[in-house]
Amino acid sequence: MTEDNIDDDWTNYSSAQYGTGENNFEEEEINESQLLNDDLDFYDENYEISPAPSISGQTHLVRIGCCDFCLGRVGGVSLANKTLKQAGVEIRSEVLKLNPDLENIEKVCPLCEDLFSEIDLIASRLISELKEYEFSRLQLGFQLPNDLLESEEYIRINFGDKRSSNLKQALSSEISMKIRMLLETDVEIVNESPEILALIDCLTLSVKLECRSLYLYTRYCKLERGLPQTKWHCRTCKGRGCEKCDYTGLQYLESVQSLIADPLLEIFSADSHSTHSMGREDIDVRCLGNGRPTVIELKNPKKRNADLDKLTSLVNKSAKGRVEIKQLRNSNKSEVVRVKDAAADKSYHICFKVSNFDEEGNELEINLTDDEIISKISKLHGAELNQRTPKRVSHRRADKIRKRKIIDLFEIKVDGKIIEFKLRAQSGTYIKEMVTSDSGRTTPSVAELLDLTCEVEWLDVIDIHSD
Ligand SMILES: [Zn+2]
Ligand SMILES: [Zn+2]
Repeated sequence: MTEDNIDDDWTNYSSAQYGTGENNFEEEEINESQLLNDDLDFYDENYEISPAPSISGQTHLVRIGCCDFCLGRVGGVSLANKTLKQAGVEIRSEVLKLNPDLENIEKVCPLCEDLFSEIDLIASRLISELKEYEFSRLQLGFQLPNDLLESEEYIRINFGDKRSSNLKQALSSEISMKIRMLLETDVEIVNESPEILALIDCLTLSVKLECRSLYLYTRYCKLERGLPQTKWHCRTCKGRGCEKCDYTGLQYLESVQSLIADPLLEIFSADSHSTHSMGREDIDVRCLGNGRPTVIELKNPKKRNADLDKLTSLVNKSAKGRVEIKQLRNSNKSEVVRVKDAAADKSYHICFKVSNFDEEGNELEINLTDDEIISKISKLHGAELNQRTPKRVSHRRADKIRKRKIIDLFEIKVDGKIIEFKLRAQSGTYIKEMVTSDSGRTTPSVAELLDLTCEVEWLDVIDIHSD
């Protein structure tokens, strides 16, 4: 068998993976077993070939059909001040001077299957996909057939220069160069934390973009009761849209999330948003003071640059005093984790009504003086509560007993049957249940200490003690 035959078989084999449909399965298998044998013969017969930059290595690379780009890439010459292709052309002309018979070799390049000649096409597809995005960090990913990667490595290692870049690295740097030339903005090609990841399918030469979310940090105050923290799907249709929710898919039209993130959607031309907050508040609870730390995530943003001072005012203006945010700043995905995992103490202001019922449900007088009430409630200062999962959340949380500490309790005010006080409690304390006792599930509790029925009038978060 001549060397040319071997090469032809090899090329057939590698093209077969492109699925032209011409090779049936049986033929492919035959080719594969031939390849294994041929590979050995090939290696044995050519034992005197030493890797490039030796002339025998370079000659071999030309003989097996390397394209100019790959010749430049693995041929072992300096690439200072020249492109891969220029380096390859130089090597080829040196080889041809000694071996004129290798002049008209027309083969598919075994090192890249002629991908380098498609760089312009790939780059222009990439540019047209990227056109609608604003970004500065781009990562390129390549989907290449494994058999090509394996045989490329085999040839590169045995006949090419040891220091040559591999196929993916070289494709990436060639495409990077092209798109830097074509794009008007400054783009950094990165290997991690990209804003856009471009996946290039080297079989179909198609390009798929994955745009990473944009994250903004702020602290929000919720100044109005009746507003849920996040988007709340309609209970009836679970968000699909039905008569009950007027086809909005929402149980409540507005939420803290929608008030602070909807105005940003348009600015960043994003598809949707999420908010990731440090803890949660019930729909009827306000959040005051310094506000609740939150990271706003904008998904698939086409724009990334904006004046955050202006955006902060824009959000506050459109929320009309129902919600207020502190100065927005840039954030990232790892801050989402930090914010969500933080176990910060919280301070609250709670107001409740006491009543005294006998066993038949008749209302009785309250036989406690204000001072007695204050002294009984004060016992909770520093107390450790045992809180069984409250009835109201038991459908979504495991039923267990949590121990939580009341760190401070102050400013107790009694006005007839209306009592209020402030407290600081460990993260995760159920505050309403600490007052009502939740039918004995929380102990000790205000209701237990006073031996009265307690009904919460309102609750505010007044501080979240995080840095
Ligand atoms: Zn090539
Ligand atoms: Zn609905």
